[in-house]
Amino acid sequence: MPIVRVALDVPLSTLFDYVLADGISVVAGQRVLVPFGRKQVVGVVMECAADSGLSAERIKSVVRVPDEIPPLPDELLTLLRFCSDYYHHPQGMTALSALPSRLRSSEPITFRKALQYALSASGRALKLDEFPKRKVVQQRMLTALQTGVLSAAQLRALSPSAPAALKALLEAGWVVALSPSPSPACRGGELERHAFNNAHTLTTEQQRAVDAVTQSAGYGCFLLHGITGSGKTEIYVHLMYEMLQRGGQILLLVPEINLTPQLENYFRSRFPDAELVSLHSGLADGERTLNWLRAQSGQARIVLGTRLAVFTPLPQLALIIVDEEHDASFKQQDGLRYSARDVAIFRANQRGLPIVLGSATPSLESYYNAQSGRYKLLRLTARALAAAKLPEVRCINTSNTFMQHGISEPLLAALEQRLQRGEQSLVFINRRGYAPVLMCTACGWLSDCKNCAGKLVLHLKDRRLRCHHCGHQERVPHACPGCGNADLQPVGIGTQRVESALQERFPGARILRVDRDSTRNKGAWNAMRQRIHDEAVDILVGTQMLAKGHDFPNLTLVGVLNPDSALYSSDFRASEKLFAQLAQVAGRAGRADKPGVVLIQTTFPDHPLFRALREHDYDAWAQTLLAERQSAGFPPFVYQVLLRAEAKQESEVYAFLQKARAAAVALALPVELYGVVPAAMPRRANHFLAQILVQHESRKLLQQFLRAWKPVLDALPAQKLRWSLDIDPLEF
Ligand code: ADP
Ligand code: ZN
Ligand code: ZN
Repeated sequence: MPIVRVALDVPLSTLFDYVLADGISVVAGQRVLVPFGRKQVVGVVMECAADSGLSAERIKSVVRVPDEIPPLPDELLTLLRFCSDYYHHPQGMTALSALPSRLRSSEPITFRKALQYALSASGRALKLDEFPKRKVVQQRMLTALQTGVLSAAQLRALSPSAPAALKALLEAGWVVALSPSPSPACRGGELERHAFNNAHTLTTEQQRAVDAVTQSAGYGCFLLHGITGSGKTEIYVHLMYEMLQRGGQILLLVPEINLTPQLENYFRSRFPDAELVSLHSGLADGERTLNWLRAQSGQARIVLGTRLAVFTPLPQLALIIVDEEHDASFKQQDGLRYSARDVAIFRANQRGLPIVLGSATPSLESYYNAQSGRYKLLRLTARALAAAKLPEVRCINTSNTFMQHGISEPLLAALEQRLQRGEQSLVFINRRGYAPVLMCTACGWLSDCKNCAGKLVLHLKDRRLRCHHCGHQERVPHACPGCGNADLQPVGIGTQRVESALQERFPGARILRVDRDSTRNKGAWNAMRQRIHDEAVDILVGTQMLAKGHDFPNLTLVGVLNPDSALYSSDFRASEKLFAQLAQVAGRAGRADKPGVVLIQTTFPDHPLFRALREHDYDAWAQTLLAERQSAGFPPFVYQVLLRAEAKQESEVYAFLQKARAAAVALALPVELYGVVPAAMPRRANHFLAQILVQHESRKLLQQFLRAWKPVLDALPAQKLRWSLDIDPLEF
């Protein structure tokens, strides 16, 4: 009896066997509706088999195939198996988390029209009399499709094994699925000519980079290292053009915050007739599903997306680009804790494709891989526009400067100058570890959160104290809860405080604050960007959000208020992140013909980080960091995994982790096993958090250890707590 092994969204590492009733035929990659417990749920068929290890009476039947969505291609199933394996996450949860939510639900997908199928250009070119005779059903389908577009139902009527034949034809690229589309008519499959707005003649460096990628055969990982404004985006555009010409699809992954309608429109304007879809969590479910299907059908030629788009089925994928590859938002922080960059590299390798990782400040991991020759390094050393000079970077030594609300006199003077010249300025606040909290000047009382180990942050606008970890909020007290003193003062600096201090100093200036609070409303950030472009803003005050690839040509001054906390952070990546952030933010200044200046307030002006920034010398900084990491035995010289646990009862957390650790020791495998320690944020939302770090120089040996450890962990009693493994963790 025919059996299917189905991945279900349940926290068990196994697949589930179901039998196929007469009249139902499915192939691997198809979604099926199956009974599970008392419910009916959607799963993905990972394998088809002739028989099951289970006895016939215990095995239930597939209810039905929910709709006519084409099956997931085998390539994607392999990718999902790899992710489940590498990240030690249940296969079913991994497979289901890769699907848009509509495809995870048992509700039928209703489009205005059902899915239809047509021959692609290569399908039309096939000589049917030369087609292998034994592939009868495929041949029958191809013949039928020569008469025109057919529905799935019409194709199914041709043979009981129609689904398998159709899948083979789709994977060979001879047939394309036409998902119902409100917009332009489908061109079906391959296009040899594309309109292309070639804005620029490439520089020699750019051309060399483009050639290196287009001339590479099979898999190759390229690290495109070029300062901001050096023309990386232009290289992407030329590469995309080349791959479109070859009939390929392109996957371009960008950090969450960068995926704006402007960016989408920019790429659309460069390729006016190639269909582009975006995929990110901000899309409505229906739209995301539709875009996903258009990618799967081959209609969408360019897929622009955030990390989740790495799992999009792309039958004609020819190139993957990961822009700002160092960005931490490529790492998912819950559920399947994958790195989209790393998964993309695996996918390119598996499909034998080139992949380009672009950044002005590569992650140390990628930089190290480029040095050791695993990746090919492509460099852009100058700005593409000869007139656009790199900004001048200077430090203001705050240990001998008068400061007001965290802003120094030299910075205020520079701001004033820009106001007089009608140019824009950006005041950048590194919020990590430095938000304003309330302190009592008499007894030293601090505004602690009652649920967390953190402090409540002062929000002046609505006079509230808020915890940024658990969301707890309360009114600002009139007097100190400790001693009754009425003089409570903010310590530390935050965006709101800087905004009001600047407004007081420059009453006529138009100041715009950009942070998570002011951009919470959907669309608010886009409206703000428009105002900045329209030059309806003089001074921008903001956090990380402002650092990323936005082009504000009239911006000539960047002030950085408080970078130092990252230099003595407990997170060993903090200074790497700070450099990337400051290099980004510095890149905002002087993009056009106006030279830019960056003023950094610090008590350590001689720190190698600031020296490298002043000299625009990423390599010097990367070498410093690599030497540090090597002597400390940190990544990229070792691979790490973090076992995290959290519970309401502190004792539960530590008891569990101690047992987990003892079990690890008992395995007697050659890994470095650290002790049980509290997390960097040891208490959050009334839960205690602790962890164990395990590392080894060899990824393979670490994985071997994990394969032995994971089943032991699964067997430990853990009723009252949650635990997880984080492979290649970025946050501690
Ligand atoms: P990056 O992505 O590295 O920050 P961009 O690709 O956005 O750089 O290029 C920066 C600016 O230089 C853009 O305004 C772009 O239009 C321009 N540019 C890029 N390449 C060229 C070129 N070959 N000739 C002229 N201008 C270019
Ligand atoms: Zn007090
Ligand atoms: Zn809290």
